[in-house]
Amino acid sequence: MDLKYKRVLLKLSGEALGDHQEPYDPQKLHEIAKQIVALQKEGLEIAIVVGGGNIWRGNRAETIKMDPISADYMGMLATVMNALALESVLKYEGSNQVVVMSKIQVPEVSSPYLFKKAKSQLEKGFIVIMAGGTGQPKFTTDTAATIRAIEIEADVLLMAKNGVDGIYDKDPKTHKDAIRFENISLNELQNKQLKVMDLTASSLAMEDQLDIVVFDINEPNNIYKAAHGSARSTLVTGGK
Ligand code: UDP
Repeated sequence: MDLKYKRVLLKLSGEALGDHQEPYDPQKLHEIAKQIVALQKEGLEIAIVVGGGNIWRGNRAETIKMDPISADYMGMLATVMNALALESVLKYEGSNQVVVMSKIQVPEVSSPYLFKKAKSQLEKGFIVIMAGGTGQPKFTTDTAATIRAIEIEADVLLMAKNGVDGIYDKDPKTHKDAIRFENISLNELQNKQLKVMDLTASSLAMEDQLDIVVFDINEPNNIYKAAHGSARSTLVTGGK
């Protein structure tokens, strides 16, 4: 099977790495890493933006009566933890070219995220894990993934979802007759009041005509398949 893309940005939510009890599920982590390493060996340039929701989300601030901005920074720090877990597992699974770049400065374990540096590392064949989200509170890692995909001129944003294999005309969990779109534009999504990401992220994707493939990470080998254009998915086109 041929690769469909030359350079991708893979968005992994924190929840993709763990289960309901534990932040990390070893089997899931290694499954993900094996696929990414296989793609790297085939010559795909891969950047990864990781979320932090398996550890902490800013919207939980109220539960412990903390200030929401600090809570958002905690969320960004959680993404750094996930990036480190992913880095180690990728190395274990056979990659010797992985780098973690972060928008939150944690110099002991990551390099600062600089887009030109990220691009040159990708060109050299490194997997670049992008931690720290946008580096700003009030944003999401979906927005970070969109911005980074645009910055590094990725051919596509591969948006891994947990248990849903694309965009449906209604919620497939509650409607048995829900229909999955093969292709849909961001503009049509907005008109139909459906969404793939938060509003900030989708506005940015629309502005730069970024294509997004939405697929289910829980299906076997689906990151690998998505990079080859063969995963059951929805292609969301950025154009208007
Ligand atoms: N976050 C933030 N700014 C960013 C990205 C993330 O403040 O640019 C915080 C926010 O509190 C968020 C948390 O980090 O709830 C974890 O990120 P996210 O919820 O996007 O992770 P995911 O759902 O993808 O695991």
